[in-house]
Amino acid sequence: MSDETLSALRGQIDNLNFKILELYNERARVALQIAQRKKELGYPGYDPVREGEMIERLLAANKGPFDDLSIGRLFKELFKNTLELMESHQSQALLSSRRVHPQDTIFNLNGAPLGGANFTILAGPCSLETPQQIEEVAAFLAQRGLKIMRGGAFKPRTSPYSFQGLGLEGLKLFHQIAKRYHLAVLSEIDDPRTVEEAYPYLDMFQIGARNMYNYPLLREVGRQDKPILLKRHFAATLEEFLLSAEYLLQAGARQIVLCERGIRTFERWTRNTLDLSAVPLLQRQSHLPVVVDISHAVGRRDLLLPLARAARAVGAQGLMLELHPQPQFARSDSQQQLDLQAGAQLLENLKEYGPLS
Ligand code: PEP
Ligand code: MN
Repeated sequence: MSDETLSALRGQIDNLNFKILELYNERARVALQIAQRKKELGYPGYDPVREGEMIERLLAANKGPFDDLSIGRLFKELFKNTLELMESHQSQALLSSRRVHPQDTIFNLNGAPLGGANFTILAGPCSLETPQQIEEVAAFLAQRGLKIMRGGAFKPRTSPYSFQGLGLEGLKLFHQIAKRYHLAVLSEIDDPRTVEEAYPYLDMFQIGARNMYNYPLLREVGRQDKPILLKRHFAATLEEFLLSAEYLLQAGARQIVLCERGIRTFERWTRNTLDLSAVPLLQRQSHLPVVVDISHAVGRRDLLLPLARAARAVGAQGLMLELHPQPQFARSDSQQQLDLQAGAQLLENLKEYGPLS
């Protein structure tokens, strides 16, 4: 079937398509230049007022045959696509991004490698409670060749009437005992004013989930030179999580580990919902190591083994696990802490997949 008029008109349509394509991309390149200039000037990226004005001017100039509704729809779609392009360029320019730093961040803490193909265990009690409790867990970890011990001295509790932790004295005690067992000390700091006094007693700073949005704390902890474990807030998107990491990076920190610890959903049979897809998504976007805290994710002992296996299978670079010599008497999170025997079984089980560090 051929008709000369039809072929000529189709030829015109093809030419117009290519012109639109060219203009569409040309417009995007100009929009990216605008975004860059706005960034230099410290202006916000998205400007809804200007967007509204552009639509108004376009509608005033519209001579048809398309009506205002379709022209409005078309340009809104075009603006949306441009905004997405600008945002994706911005996120690729972040210090946490693989675009900026293609290689995995790998570092060594007290002989334990963090990042890359390693699977590193960060275990210990929820709260530091007594010298004996700290000692028993420290001995357990050291016997198994593990190098890092966690334990909370400053406890961010939901109720102000719950046990708030032993504070700086607890941290000093932790440090003293951990050093006897050649273990690195990992503990949460929740106040920028405490960073300096806690610094000598810590080997790795933990930023807890609740403090992921505490930007003054992120800036202060990011300025010191020890590694940092940053936990995801239970209502944070992955984008917000990486932007919190960006505060640490911007302040100068480089040895940062991201920790997925479950997010809040409608499900009540677990304390939170473990977002396993966060692991490969974060690893795709960022060069920083990603570990999974199974204890706070589910809040119950009986699910820890399958979730530890799942974390390993999905490619996490380590695991956080709460251990207590007598979980039934723990002053916080007693439902989720494993006793040392169950902890030993879980760690043995995980060795099936390869060595633990
Ligand atoms: C913790 O790891 O001690 C803790 C309180 O966890 P999160 O900040 O994830 O709630
Ligand atoms: Mn806990």
